[in-house]
Amino acid sequence: MLVLGSANADLVVPVPRRPGAGETVLGGDAVVLPGGKGANTAVAAARLGARVAFAGAVGADQYGDLLRDSLASAGVRTDLLRTSTRPTGLAYITVTPDGENSIVVAPGANSDVGDLDVDALTWDGVSVLACSLEVPVSAVARAVEAAAAHGVRPVLNLSPVAPVPPSTLALLDPLIVNEHEAAALAGSPEGLLDLGPKSAVVTLGARGALVVTPEGVTEVDAPEVPVVDTTGAGDAFAGALAAGLANGDALADAARFAARVAALSVTAAGAQPSYPTLDRVRAFG
Ligand code: ADP
Repeated sequence: MLVLGSANADLVVPVPRRPGAGETVLGGDAVVLPGGKGANTAVAAARLGARVAFAGAVGADQYGDLLRDSLASAGVRTDLLRTSTRPTGLAYITVTPDGENSIVVAPGANSDVGDLDVDALTWDGVSVLACSLEVPVSAVARAVEAAAAHGVRPVLNLSPVAPVPPSTLALLDPLIVNEHEAAALAGSPEGLLDLGPKSAVVTLGARGALVVTPEGVTEVDAPEVPVVDTTGAGDAFAGALAAGLANGDALADAARFAARVAALSVTAAGAQPSYPTLDRVRAFG
């Protein structure tokens, strides 16, 4: 499968409380973690044994190296990951003791993912394209259309929500959104299909997910697990879903598999570091 999307370095600082305007707050030790919705999705799928190539852009800096290393060590092909003249995307994340995050994203190199990156994609042996939206919508739309033209199944995690051309939405199978994004887009899960996709999946956090097709809505349970950190659960779900589809699974089966993978991902800290291998998912029962 191919993943087109963002790669960010997450700079995470624990703070006793969020600073107000003009204020300085002393925090704990900062950690730098590989992140970004696209890179997370690619790593999640590769950990599960999928053959994955990641297309996107990072800067010629230490954070770009961190992201390349993280993707490569998960087994993701990085020859389509371009080095931009802009700095690597950064997410500045403060975490308060109640577990709440505040995040500022500086997209940097992710903003110049464009037509040339999409036109460099190679489709031989690819069955699924997985995209998300921390990169320009125009690039995602072009990639989805190219995928469909090559008989490749396009999957889009419409996060963060942005206006996508109807001709692009019509090709998606599925459109993936969380419940907040779903509410912003449609009045009901079934209403998502009125936007045009062939199918939709709504993730519901600890309540699992809904698979929406013209035949109806199928509920997918989330296994009950001890929650440590839900960061990147949606990306784990999207990566596992795409890996299942690339493996030839039916959509509802791929969603059930994705719910197990995403549940395991919330039992450990971080996004990419928390993603399970296929052996772990099988042992999970
Ligand atoms: P996002 O991270 O994009 O907001 P969700 O919060 O809906 O997305 O989480 C994505 C998926 O992760 C859910 O559909 C579910 O399968 C899994 N998940 C999230 N939180 C939990 C939890 N507390 N327990 C079990 N599974 C969870």
